[in-house]
Amino acid sequence: MTDFVGIDAGGTLIKTAHVEQGKYTFKMVTLSEINEIVNWLKEQHPKAKVRITGAKQSVLAKLLENEVQMVPEFEATTRGVQSIVETSNLTLPDNYLVVNVGTGTSIHSVNRKGAERLGGTGVGGGMLMGLAYLLTGRTDFQEITQLAAKGDRNGIDLKVKDIYEGASPIGGELTASNFGFMERIKHQEVKDEDVLACLIGMISESILMMAIPFAKTISTSTIVFIGSTFQSNPLFRKQLEHFEELFHIKACFPQQGQFSGAVGALLYHAPFEGLGVKQGH
Ligand code: ATP
Ligand code: MG
Repeated sequence: MTDFVGIDAGGTLIKTAHVEQGKYTFKMVTLSEINEIVNWLKEQHPKAKVRITGAKQSVLAKLLENEVQMVPEFEATTRGVQSIVETSNLTLPDNYLVVNVGTGTSIHSVNRKGAERLGGTGVGGGMLMGLAYLLTGRTDFQEITQLAAKGDRNGIDLKVKDIYEGASPIGGELTASNFGFMERIKHQEVKDEDVLACLIGMISESILMMAIPFAKTISTSTIVFIGSTFQSNPLFRKQLEHFEELFHIKACFPQQGQFSGAVGALLYHAPFEGLGVKQGH
């Protein structure tokens, strides 16, 4: 039994957060498993006040018997990131960019005074799932990300060095054209793992090329990535980290960052200490 539960009912996944013995406790299910959350609250936390955020907040609220409070999504996300950072061992500057790669991608500036949504893109986790299916027929997120980690982008993506004769004005290893190596694609066997690696490459590069100019406008080099698209997705992280050196940015992936919205909803109108969360958990 707990007094408060925070829930982020997103476009694809439902995430929950509550405090148990001074620690955040998390739960995640897909949207189609929404009844698991309904039953869990009924059986384990029937008296809890439930604070819900996310695109599907009204869908979930209608199914619950608990007292419910609706929480705006962007406020919940950025408040949650701050708390997740505070309770982890991450040290961040006062001013940083938050990139939430969920079904879609949303970009926010966070500083001591507050937070602001700067923009977003439809390039994100939903696009990964949709294009992975169209290109390979696969639908399992773990399978897709694990296969992609073994893939080779050479011969599908066209690199700068593949088109430049002689010295190039930018690094030869940079992508000149995602999925653009038609000469090779037409004539070689293309494996699913290679296509998936290119897909993740394209998505991460596109997100980065949008996030970096936003970081520059708010004069920070720190970009905090959250959202479930990074979970068990080593290639995604590797691609993003590759850009750190090139563009002088620092990419951070707070542990449990995908629960930021749920934590932010939990903390809405409640002082952090009031819930009894201890530092370092
Ligand atoms: P949004 O914030 O855009 O409304 P959301 O909150 O549901 O969506 P997240 O939970 O942050 O988004 O991320 C969803 C993405 O995470 C999916 O699009 C997919 O790429 C990835 N993902 C991770 N685990 C799973 C899973 N078990 N099933 C489906 N997608 C998953
Ligand atoms: Mg979300």
